[in-house]
Amino acid sequence: MSADIETSLRGPQSYELAQRAVEVMESHGVWPTIRNFELWVHYVGLKTSPLAEEIERLIAAGEPFTESVGEALAARFLPDSKRNGEILDAGDALSRELQSVAVAIESAQKTSAIYGEQLASASETLAGQDVAKAKSVIDDLATATRAVQAQNKQLATQLGETNAELTRLRENLEQVRRDAMTDGLTNLANRKSFDEALEAACTEADANNQPLCLGIIDIDHFKGFNDTWGHQIGDQVLRYVSSVIGRMGAFPRLAARYGGEEFAVIFPAEQTASAHAVLEEIRLEVSSRALKRRSTNEDLGAMTVSSGIALRLPGEPSANLLERADTALYASKHAGRNRTTIAAPPPATAVAA
Ligand code: C2E
Repeated sequence: MSADIETSLRGPQSYELAQRAVEVMESHGVWPTIRNFELWVHYVGLKTSPLAEEIERLIAAGEPFTESVGEALAARFLPDSKRNGEILDAGDALSRELQSVAVAIESAQKTSAIYGEQLASASETLAGQDVAKAKSVIDDLATATRAVQAQNKQLATQLGETNAELTRLRENLEQVRRDAMTDGLTNLANRKSFDEALEAACTEADANNQPLCLGIIDIDHFKGFNDTWGHQIGDQVLRYVSSVIGRMGAFPRLAARYGGEEFAVIFPAEQTASAHAVLEEIRLEVSSRALKRRSTNEDLGAMTVSSGIALRLPGEPSANLLERADTALYASKHAGRNRTTIAAPPPATAVAA
């Protein structure tokens, strides 16, 4: 969040701001997700910001605030703000925990040192003393022993709590990391993790002298479909196609949402024939299902996808591979859509470069 909003949310007007955000979200039919809340708190709190202006524009245009609209707004106006905040918060909590354990250990060490000194002086005092004096020394020792025991118990409890807290923080960070790599609408890998995975797959293919294929898939006539049925149904179509791609592109493959209605699948250690078979399976399964508008049972018809596939040549940079797969996809589109095209090998000079 921007510093202004962050300050307001910690100030006395925070409840009012949050309440106004929820009211305005409700009035525009916006789901109360964390991302939407962040967007709309900005909207009510910073009316002159570019984000607020864009929201005003969408309201005026009568655009529905679908998940993909929220996603696009967050990507454009709040890049990584929430995640950075969560990571910083988790980091702060971690260092606070570690500091409190360090303090507890230091205090236990001091008590133990004092106890040691008490024991040494007691044994000196006891030498040659009468029974009454010995009894008082032993009473003192018993008191000191109880103090050390209590401190040890407290330390053990604190360590237990810290352990639980560290596990929770580790899980939180893992979740944040997963969220940062995942596309919110479709649950496939996002563009960022796709880019990283493709680079890693190229390096691994070269290191192990293995093949590597890349498939790019695009939903046919998606824009027209969106215009006809609206963004909410458009989102459902994206989720449906993603679910098919995600099933066929499961690990060790990697399926990602590459852009709006474009997807990519990385096929490590696979030759063209097997990757092509998978893309064809995806294509046939997507088109085999007549989708329905669930609220009215209205028939939306079946969607089709076009794909392009490229086999990487040894040493070929990822950008070249992507470009070839993309060109093959456009060849599928130009040839009438609803098909898969295999890319031609790159010119020898392009690979050597
Ligand atoms: P979702 O609505 O969250 O549904 C998740 C999964 O639950 C579906 O995965 C399917 O296995 C099951 N499911 C949900 N509703 C129904 C139903 O009415 N009938 C049947 N037979 N199964 C149902 P699937 O099929 O892979 O779809 C993934 C996502 O794609 C769905 O998520 C939804 O967002 C979208 N979708 C799929 N088919 C349609 C459709 O005909 N109409 C609309 N509007 N969306 C659809």
